[in-house]
Amino acid sequence: KLRKEETMRRQLHNTIQELKGNIRVFCRVRPLLGSEKEMADDLPISFPVCDDDNELEVVQGSENAMGKTTSKTFPFKFDRVFSPTATQDEVFDEVSQLIQSALDGYPVCIFAYGQTGSGKTHTMQGPDATPSEELDQSALGIIPRAVQQIYETTSKLAERGWTYVLEGQFVEIYNETLQDLLAPANRASDRQGKLEIHQDPEGHTRVKNVTTVKVDSARRVHWLLARAAENRTVAATNCNERSSRSHSVFSLHLHGTNKLTGESSSGVLNLIDLAGSERLSSSGSRGERLKETQAINKSLSSLGDVISALAKGNKHVPYRNSKLTHLLQESLGSGNSKTLMFVCVNPSPASTQESLCSLQFATKVNSCHIGTARRQNA
Ligand code: ADP
Ligand code: MG
Repeated sequence: KLRKEETMRRQLHNTIQELKGNIRVFCRVRPLLGSEKEMADDLPISFPVCDDDNELEVVQGSENAMGKTTSKTFPFKFDRVFSPTATQDEVFDEVSQLIQSALDGYPVCIFAYGQTGSGKTHTMQGPDATPSEELDQSALGIIPRAVQQIYETTSKLAERGWTYVLEGQFVEIYNETLQDLLAPANRASDRQGKLEIHQDPEGHTRVKNVTTVKVDSARRVHWLLARAAENRTVAATNCNERSSRSHSVFSLHLHGTNKLTGESSSGVLNLIDLAGSERLSSSGSRGERLKETQAINKSLSSLGDVISALAKGNKHVPYRNSKLTHLLQESLGSGNSKTLMFVCVNPSPASTQESLCSLQFATKVNSCHIGTARRQNA
């Protein structure tokens, strides 16, 4: 009986997924860290009790002209909301279905969106891969877990005649220019500006000159993340600063062939750690900084435009407005694509305004908004 209920539950789940289309938005609110904890009594973000785990509220206080404090409550609803206690395990549980889709031959994109320090890299990758230290498995983010899952599944599928070839690429988009994060160290100095997006004869979007690494063991991915970290350090004096101002795109191409049945499948999994979404005002920045700022604003808004055009089923989707959407064009819009966006949120009171902006961006992408702000007196 339990099994039957489980089957029915799954069928219902699949039907709901189909009705909702292939774009999902999850929200993840990270815990307070270090000194932020002193503010713990007065948090702007709360989670109304709800069996669905898919709502949150943000309260924003402000002083009016009469000196009276008022506050506004902004409710949000997403496909899933993770509160600060959610573990990497729980988050991955909700993602593993999509990893399976990539193995089954679908193009999949998973994005992490949010201001700098909101938990994007923690969600996508986990702690920095330092080869010398023992890895804390429970802290691992989506990239290493996805590769692990793919290995476990492909070794089972091997018994049924399937052989998979996995190829990884890791690029960074900085100032609308692609950089190769897997280039060998001795090519680090001349790799700038060499990568180009082009269409191959079959019409597939490819990156010219990009390093492609055979991911032939689950451990290989740690090596790969370490090399990417090293290349980032070479490229910037301040590695964190740099990574908050660029997008990084990890792509795993999965080619499967079955020697018994002659079937084949070709999927791709793109895991994207976006540049910090904090609104950067152009007025204060000059020179290099101004260029950076404009590039980030433009590419994040292009991404929002592309995803919402896809969600609405628009005929024209403006992929060519940024390198990021151009690079991902095939994965985002090939009809059977699956896209998930994590909107990452820092719960500190000092970040309320940025959190609201991120949640509003994600709502626009998802068109899943539940009503406008309710006004309250404090
Ligand atoms: P971003 O990539 O968005 O700039 P990070 O992922 O680097 O942010 O997170 C900022 C800090 O918060 C890091 O020290 C990270 O370890 C920590 N952090 C983020 N999310 C969590 C979480 N869910 N649990 C514990 N620590 C987290
Ligand atoms: Mg980061």
